[in-house]
Amino acid sequence: MTEQTFRVGPIRPPSEAGSLLIQVTRGCTWNKCRFCGLYKDNTFRAYSVESIKNDIDVIADYVERIKPYIDNQGRWDRLGLKGEINKLSPTERESFYVVLNWLMHGGENVFLQDGNSLALKTDRVVEVLQYLRKRLPWIKRITSYARAETLSRISAEDYKRLKEAGLDRIHSGFESGSDEVLELINKGVTSEQEIIAGKNIKESGIEFSVYFMPGVGGKDLSYKNAIETARVVKEIDPDYVRIRTAVIKTDTELWEYVESGIFKLCSENEKLNEIRILIEKTKGCSGILTSDHVVNLLQGLNGRLKEDNERMLNAIDEYFNLPESEQKIFQLARRKLMVTFVKDLKMLSEFQREKLEEITRRITDEDKWNRMLNELLMQYI
Ligand code: SF4
Repeated sequence: MTEQTFRVGPIRPPSEAGSLLIQVTRGCTWNKCRFCGLYKDNTFRAYSVESIKNDIDVIADYVERIKPYIDNQGRWDRLGLKGEINKLSPTERESFYVVLNWLMHGGENVFLQDGNSLALKTDRVVEVLQYLRKRLPWIKRITSYARAETLSRISAEDYKRLKEAGLDRIHSGFESGSDEVLELINKGVTSEQEIIAGKNIKESGIEFSVYFMPGVGGKDLSYKNAIETARVVKEIDPDYVRIRTAVIKTDTELWEYVESGIFKLCSENEKLNEIRILIEKTKGCSGILTSDHVVNLLQGLNGRLKEDNERMLNAIDEYFNLPESEQKIFQLARRKLMVTFVKDLKMLSEFQREKLEEITRRITDEDKWNRMLNELLMQYI
């Protein structure tokens, strides 16, 4: 008998932590961004509609097998589930657990993987979406990642078809709205294409979530990275602007630029200042800014760009108002996961503080300090 399994890719946005992951493509069509090593060992592959439908059928079957073990009060019969799991092979169990985990998180949202799923022809994506909605009709939200350049080539009419078929949100790693930065990181897209893509998506009613990467332009382009991204955000007014502070991994081309001196790592304060500029300059926008990744210095920075603008700026200034020595303690403590918020500095023990102070006294060279923090950050991505 053939095993009942389905594919699952490696990456999803943090906001899709509880979502069911369905791999409609593998890898990325571009694979050339200088800061990204995510899919370096994978060639892009688009799966056939038939094989995706087959995965959806397997998921739907597991849902039917799991459902009898939850009562209408949401209580799980763990013993019964254990018996069901014992009937499965080790690989089937992995698929079973994915579906079980999804149902335990509410079983409402689905994310289409991998890095550029909308590179599939719209007809194919529409067929997949319709099938998903038919087999799992209670789904509330379906979302997907896609490259900005790919998105700029999809017409406004096709976005409307995708919306009608049930695509609710698109995530895209813009990283920057500065053409100079986009060129430096070899993103393969221009700010104009980003704006075309964003406007067409917004017009269709699909929610749009863009990612901004403070620090990805390095010291020299730090201000441009912020101000030009603010320009693009203002033009599009996306539903979400998500902050992903740049971490330059040592196995990337951009790190070679660091080593050769072409690219100078931004300090934590420069990266945070980019976020400050972005918030300040996009005050009239209606979208939500979210700092939902551990790589960001200030994690609790969330709010509507319009209504919560002042509050978010104040939260940033709370950090900037610290004496320089305390800022460095916070940077280090945060990167070692000893604090989350500025107020947590008060919670450090005497021993912890002494250790942190000792490191700040030892590393006084700015570039060495920035490299050390970058290295600490590498463990989180
Ligand atoms: S488009 Fe995304 S997944 Fe592809 S190389 Fe660039 S950052 Fe990596």
